[in-house]
Amino acid sequence: TKNNGRNGYNFFQPSMNTIAQNQLQLINDLWLAQDHQQLRLFYQPKYCAPQGPILGFEALLRWQHPERGLLTPDVFLPLAEKTGLIVTIGNWVINEALRQLRVWHLQGHPHWSVAVNLSALQFEQSSLVETVVQALDRHLIPPELLTLEVTETTAMRDPDESVRILTELTRLGVKASIDDFGTGYSSLLYLKRLPASELKIDRAFVNELQSETEDATIVSAIVALAQSLNLKVVAEGVETEEQQAFLTGLGCNTLQGYLLGRPVPAEKVSELKNYTGQQ
Ligand code: C2E
Ligand code: CA
Ligand code: CA
Ligand code: CA
Repeated sequence: TKNNGRNGYNFFQPSMNTIAQNQLQLINDLWLAQDHQQLRLFYQPKYCAPQGPILGFEALLRWQHPERGLLTPDVFLPLAEKTGLIVTIGNWVINEALRQLRVWHLQGHPHWSVAVNLSALQFEQSSLVETVVQALDRHLIPPELLTLEVTETTAMRDPDESVRILTELTRLGVKASIDDFGTGYSSLLYLKRLPASELKIDRAFVNELQSETEDATIVSAIVALAQSLNLKVVAEGVETEEQQAFLTGLGCNTLQGYLLGRPVPAEKVSELKNYTGQQ
């Protein structure tokens, strides 16, 4: 990058700088976002198959950026993970989701549960158990109404360690869910050892259900596997009535997806289908 003439210098450097600066700016903004209350949780309903009642919600992180608008996790989660900011953000998510759940309980939905996604870094923090215990206590939430979702890939990073962490968490009474199931490479033997109570079939398999028979075979196999291990099966990404019918037919207990309800801010959950449905 020495003196190749101004043109050579300018040709490469500005674009690289722009990307790097953009990322740096976003990291800085994200750091500030926490204090400036720009982080929000949206809640996507989980329905008892085929279409209700509502069993609970998955909390999904959003960032109300002052200039860029409402951002979804794909834009900022990788940065949050790389910089380690995900740990404090993730702890905020646990607290905020339980605070909201307490509000719903007091509004007449005492059976509703909430699921929170854990990133790999957060899952491996030795302080996670303490964070969860404190949040449950603070918001007076029975542990069995909190589900922690860990992706199959995260759980497989260090299988023995994951068994240890999940055992500690589930001893509290909290539920564990293996998210994005089918995209990783866990063995049957390992799955049996994991103290999880639920498998979530990855959206990719559900999405393609009608067009590719191969996916229908995979989904049937996952549901059968889960049942044989006494795990609840949640299908995410249900978008059509055909998918809903197929999954219900297989014995999939819980459905989640745009067909039944999109992620919404807490103040909009009363507009969801079957909001008043009895459990
Ligand atoms: P995920 O845990 O697999 O969550 C499901 C994603 O699928 C959500 O995207 C949800 O909005 C979307 N979705 C739900 N139903 C449908 C559907 O019928 N069709 C389609 N096309 N999409 C559907 P979202 O909210 O953008 O989140 C993306 C990912 O970001 C999540 O995937 C999760 O891995 C991560 N994430 C979200 N919130 C948090 C958080 O608080 N902490 C951590 N660590 N990760 C989070
Ligand atoms: Ca999830
Ligand atoms: Ca998922
Ligand atoms: Ca996913």
